[in-house]
Amino acid sequence: MSKTTHFKNGRIFTSTSDGTLHDSLVIRGDKIVFVGSASDAAAHAQGAEVVDLRGKVVLPGIIDAHSHLMLLGGSLTKVDCLGKSIPEIQAAIKARYDAEPDAQMVLGCQFQYDAIGAPPHKRWLDEVCPDKPCIIDNSSLHSAWLNSAAMAAIGVTRDTPDPLGGEFVRDAAGELTGYWRETAVVEYSWPWVAAQTTAAQRHALLASVFDAYLATGVTGAVDMATTPEDLAALEAYAAAHGRLPLRVACHWLVRPGAAPADEVRVAAAHRARLAPLAPWLSVAGIKIISDGVVDACTAFLREPYPNGAAPGPIWPADELTRVVQLADALGLQVACHAIGDAAVDQALDAFEAAAAANGPRERRHRIEHLEVVGADAIPRLARLGVVASLQPVHADPVKVVNWDAQLGYGCRCDRKFPWKEFEDARADVAFGSDAPTAPYHPLPNMYTATTRLSAINPSLPDPVDERTKNLARLCVSLETAVRYYTAGGAYSMRADKEVGTLEPGKSADFAVLDIDPFDGRLDSLRKAQQGVAQTWVAGERVWAKET
Ligand SMILES: [Zn+2]
Repeated sequence: MSKTTHFKNGRIFTSTSDGTLHDSLVIRGDKIVFVGSASDAAAHAQGAEVVDLRGKVVLPGIIDAHSHLMLLGGSLTKVDCLGKSIPEIQAAIKARYDAEPDAQMVLGCQFQYDAIGAPPHKRWLDEVCPDKPCIIDNSSLHSAWLNSAAMAAIGVTRDTPDPLGGEFVRDAAGELTGYWRETAVVEYSWPWVAAQTTAAQRHALLASVFDAYLATGVTGAVDMATTPEDLAALEAYAAAHGRLPLRVACHWLVRPGAAPADEVRVAAAHRARLAPLAPWLSVAGIKIISDGVVDACTAFLREPYPNGAAPGPIWPADELTRVVQLADALGLQVACHAIGDAAVDQALDAFEAAAAANGPRERRHRIEHLEVVGADAIPRLARLGVVASLQPVHADPVKVVNWDAQLGYGCRCDRKFPWKEFEDARADVAFGSDAPTAPYHPLPNMYTATTRLSAINPSLPDPVDERTKNLARLCVSLETAVRYYTAGGAYSMRADKEVGTLEPGKSADFAVLDIDPFDGRLDSLRKAQQGVAQTWVAGERVWAKET
């Protein structure tokens, strides 16, 4: 007989359509057997161990529907360049260089265009790291800044042609500047760094990610753009520990060019091969990156940028449609990164064509980010059953300063990140963080989702101008934010029969908070990086805050 535990005196939010807060949760073994009032709980809780929640809020286990696990693990150890100027970055890189003389390379993350104030250039890194590779990821992960030694080690020279959909930025004389964009990063920088990373290092990176997630109530994550090295590391972790400590669904990265159809078949083969490891590790489908980012003027837009830039999509439309149709026919979910409104249209066209070609079925394809999106595209997305995968933290006021500037503060800025419009269109929505491009902590992310204010810099004054204040109309309620971060995430990873809501028969995955945002104080979410008291996965307490 498996153990029964009765959690009582709680404020339990189930993420079902029932919005009331319940007193009692009863779990037996790894499953929930009851949620409701204390009096009704008694019949289900005979012989149960009783845990007095003392009024604490309980949420279903949070699911980060868009994450980059290995990169997040890396970022937990990289030199953090967020918000730093060039001299500050140089000082931080130099400090790491001096502190780790035996390290093979110096890696940084989170440099921001507005903070450095100029295009990245290798000479600033060469000055402080002259004789070993130094690579700093942009906060968007869509560009990188390299020193001369890194480019030499990777083997890229002034004669190397730009990859399709990317650029090794050069100066007027044709010399490499050390600023790499889009597929130059994905196809050259990341694979090189990955090849230098040992299996033991990967294992340690994953362990740090799982610990960080469980400490914030996250019990499931969707890994976006999984590489062969990432999947091998996840499998090795599962083999070493029997399973992963939380549920991970992977979207295999498929790139344009060489042989994308082969990569789709590889993803399908991994999906079939890993079926025995479900629900802890699965390959859900593929990830396609169809445009860039607003910050670098590489998002694919219906109308040009104010500076005249009018970049096209990363994938030619016909090639994208072929790959989506093939993945769809193989039962894979397609997650399409589309930030600009034209990229969103292109993705929806491909999904619609796949549905027409392959006939009706349950698909759950997804579009990631949807930052600039046509008002007409939102009901279309809902009608096609495409999941909107949104990351409220990307709209944090400190992150959109450069975003607004690139779009010239025009009307597109007045409808940026229109979360409420997705809710109004009754679209399926999943919330995530896109870590490490943004902080992974879900409760502060919910703060931005519900207020449109900054959790990254909690001391930032609230907006005073009408235009910025008006963005609050695009927020969602706390109840909706929690549902999108739990039930919505579970739906997006086809785990909604198992997790996502607190209901009898579902897995006992939940988080006990030590803040109470339901008491009318959304502000409690703002600094709540560590607002979780306990995290439970499959009926086991896997994390508890030291008190
Ligand atoms: Zn991402």
